[in-house]
Amino acid sequence: MKKIRLNLIPGDGIGIEVVRESTRVLGKISELHGGISFLANELDWGCGHYLKHGTMMPRDGLSILADCDAILLGAIGFPGVADHVSVQGLLFPIRQGFDQYINMRPIKMLEGLDSPLKASRPEDIDFVVIRENSEGEYCGKGSISHEGTPEEAVIQEAHFSRKGTTRVIRYAFEYARSHGRATVASATKSNALNYSMVFWDKIFGEVKASYPDIASRSIHVDALAGMFILKPQMFEVVVASNLFGDILTDLGSAMLGSIGISPSANINPEKRFPSMFEPIHGSAPDIAGKGIANPLGTLWSMVMMLEHLDLPDMAGMLMKAIASVVASGTVKTPDMGGTGTTAQVVDEVCRQLDRTGR
Ligand code: ATP
Repeated sequence: MKKIRLNLIPGDGIGIEVVRESTRVLGKISELHGGISFLANELDWGCGHYLKHGTMMPRDGLSILADCDAILLGAIGFPGVADHVSVQGLLFPIRQGFDQYINMRPIKMLEGLDSPLKASRPEDIDFVVIRENSEGEYCGKGSISHEGTPEEAVIQEAHFSRKGTTRVIRYAFEYARSHGRATVASATKSNALNYSMVFWDKIFGEVKASYPDIASRSIHVDALAGMFILKPQMFEVVVASNLFGDILTDLGSAMLGSIGISPSANINPEKRFPSMFEPIHGSAPDIAGKGIANPLGTLWSMVMMLEHLDLPDMAGMLMKAIASVVASGTVKTPDMGGTGTTAQVVDEVCRQLDRTGR
């Protein structure tokens, strides 16, 4: 029996509910597979930890985390702890410390989802956003001067390195090639950002020269956001900087009808460090504790985790179960127009796994 060691960071707010409920499918998956078992180690890191100990995670948090095959995270952030403190104290140290330089976010319409868009058939919306995840606008550097005076000013830096930019753009082209995708679009803003995005475009031009089989274009991010809404069919792979990718993928998930649906993977492609999987939504304090958070984003993130763990059959089975629960429409959480609970959706996915897996 192969043992797969997972570190779980449910985090804050609905993160706790969606991770606790969704991980119930792991038992079902090991049962269906027959040759694997999951050892899940739950860590109580997040804003609660900060209020008790003054840090979002223990000082040696990364070495505790390193000893596993994958990390599953719920959501981080809660009123009472400033957002920049929670993000800079946990999410960014993990992404950067484990060199998870790829953030992959599929935006895929499933039968049964209620998109607010006119073009909303499954074949209309099916693309992946590959976001740079280790530097760029989220490098955390900057300065404040003349604090508290009328001259107060801040500088927020964006750090784009040749290595960091090249590897994410190359990853996007490689992904397109290996997944039968014919086009890569790059989100830029080089008309206004005269250093960072001019550089990004230059590297994009260099990398694309090695992929003559893939059609590619650079599109200013503001126009790109509009095209997501008006012509989603034109996208297959989108590569974007940390900030642009962050914004574009919340928009992408909203195109599917709810921010609670979309998954993400923070990947260290070389597998030198564990990768981390998390739904794209936040901790949603407005519905926390009510048991009605949508678990689909977390379950779909677990599909990506199973793929990363080289368990494609199990990933496929879980994805099929999620898709048939969505298509049947029998249980939906309120964000999708239903009255179901988090637990009921997970129960239904487990039932589907039972039906399709045997
Ligand atoms: P962050 O800054 O971390 O993205 P946020 O509070 O700005 O957090 P979210 O927490 O992602 O944004 O959510 C915005 C709103 O979307 C929430 O207030 C909630 O109503 C809804 N929402 C988010 N995730 C879910 C979910 N999984 N199920 C149901 N509703 C959700």
